[in-house]
Amino acid sequence: METITKQMLEYTWKSVNPALDTMRNMFDLARLVDAEECREISVSENGALQFGRACYAVWNADHRCANCTSYQSCHTHQRKSRVEYFDGKEYQIQSVPVQITLADETVYSCNLELINFGESMEGAETSKNTRETTGYISTHDKMTGILNWDGFCKQVRSLMMEHPSKTYLILSANIQNFKLVNSLFGRNIGEYVLIEISDILKEFCGAEGLAARTGGDTFSVCIPKTEDVEKRLMTRISQVRSLIESPSYHLNIHFGIYEVVDPNIPISIMSDRAYMALQTIRGNREKNIAWFNEVMLKNVLHEQKVISDFENNLRSGQFVIYLQPQVSAQGKIEGAECLVRWILPEGKMIPPLEFIGILEQSDLIAALDKYVWELAAKQLSLWKGTEYQDMYLSVNVSPQDFYYVDVANTMLALCKQYDIPPKKLHVEITETALADETQNNRQTIELLQKEGFIVEIDDFGKGSSSLSLLKDIKADVLKIDMGFLRQSENNVRGNIILEMVIDMAKRLNMEVISEGVETEGQLKNLTELGCHMFQGYYFSKPIPVAAFEEMIKDSYVNNNG
Ligand code: C2E
Ligand code: MG
Ligand code: MG
Repeated sequence: METITKQMLEYTWKSVNPALDTMRNMFDLARLVDAEECREISVSENGALQFGRACYAVWNADHRCANCTSYQSCHTHQRKSRVEYFDGKEYQIQSVPVQITLADETVYSCNLELINFGESMEGAETSKNTRETTGYISTHDKMTGILNWDGFCKQVRSLMMEHPSKTYLILSANIQNFKLVNSLFGRNIGEYVLIEISDILKEFCGAEGLAARTGGDTFSVCIPKTEDVEKRLMTRISQVRSLIESPSYHLNIHFGIYEVVDPNIPISIMSDRAYMALQTIRGNREKNIAWFNEVMLKNVLHEQKVISDFENNLRSGQFVIYLQPQVSAQGKIEGAECLVRWILPEGKMIPPLEFIGILEQSDLIAALDKYVWELAAKQLSLWKGTEYQDMYLSVNVSPQDFYYVDVANTMLALCKQYDIPPKKLHVEITETALADETQNNRQTIELLQKEGFIVEIDDFGKGSSSLSLLKDIKADVLKIDMGFLRQSENNVRGNIILEMVIDMAKRLNMEVISEGVETEGQLKNLTELGCHMFQGYYFSKPIPVAAFEEMIKDSYVNNNG
């Protein structure tokens, strides 16, 4: 029996059909199936999905469903293989989870089934095995009696096929802070709420729609589109809210709605879109209903792309550092902050705000930060013995880094590797990261300082615990956040606070850098208030390393001539 060893295969709409052709030379049958909808599928020449017959078993469907390898593979994300017997024949089946990036960039998960038809197996053994594989998939949720996810997928598909002229809506619903219901009122009340909500949704659907409990506290609904749907839904939301009357907890439910424009796309993708809409209003007290739109899809696709291509892009050198000068009151460039930029192969530059947050959420930021720190260390070592040798570089540390990296020892190792003194590498740690006491970051700061690194508190004034933080953390530099600065221009109260912060920092033996200086007026004001180091567009935007070097050369020429 040929085997495919990789747990998950990834294809694009262009590569999947040639790959299937190759596999057809190795197996009696190679095909794609959507195990949730129980249908054969294929990818058309223009990269869209096409659905084949329902229940894709090559042999008696009833006998296969209960133990369907693809169903198991799809739910465990693992490759499954087994030998099945039916009607005196042997079937050697492998199911491999597959992800296909379609022409519209949607990533679609399904299964590749690879089957060899074995020898005929006559006799008693066959009927015994046949009986063992006999069974059925439960399509209903035990607790609430409405459909479960599998039942929902199958029945929604049938409904849409029976009524091709109707436009349907797929709704995804989630109870806000449901965990609290169990902990405040006990499990019985929790179950009561789930059962009542199921009944409310079933009534809302009437005879023409379908309701399902698709997770612990999530529900899905399919109904024909009507003009008054929001109004009708709001009535049901009020009903849900009144299930618990307590001063300490307000029961609330949110709905994301996807209008099914193309009924041929998989139900799982329709539900994902309803869920995307739901995510935009999670926790919102004023808004209970959100409709899916293309911007949401674009955002999610962007997120998926950032995450899935990240390692390759990092390896291929798409992330580079730009330098933003830090300038003294005398106008001398003392060093620069390293700010990461993602440059696409076609030259387009993506700013950090479009990917740092995504990488932080998906635990990939530490890899990027280590890479940036190394670029900085490498640059400092390249500058040794040149006219730039007095410059320092300042790098950013994300709050997440403390969980994944030994920040101090990683920095130290880089300084050793590139033979640079630690005082040339400044370390910017945001106020929010420092405020999180669960991390060992205070020890990290002490260690960094002991080794000679300059530690800076970044974005001071943005967080909520600025002052108490200063009591406990002995950093070397305080970077005052530009937002704070902007609000304070021509503002007497703002100036008083700024002056106090600058004075306080000095008394705590900290240097102050004002970042985000955009105008001469701001510079003058800050200088009068006692600040001596600046960073901001007034001096320069973050620029490529070569441009930064030019800038320093020019400043020498200007100062000497
Ligand atoms: P940050 O560390 O506070 O960096 C300063 C940000 O303010 C930079 O934005 C810079 O371009 C911008 N800026 C500087 N001067 C001015 C000004 O005069 N006016 C205005 N409006 N903005 C100014 P950028 O480069 O987009 O970076 C944004 C944030 O992304 C950074 O804020 C930092 O938190 C994060 N970041 C950048 N590079 C890295 C990195 O390598 N690792 C990590 N973890 N975060 C990074
Ligand atoms: Mg910074
Ligand atoms: Mg900052």
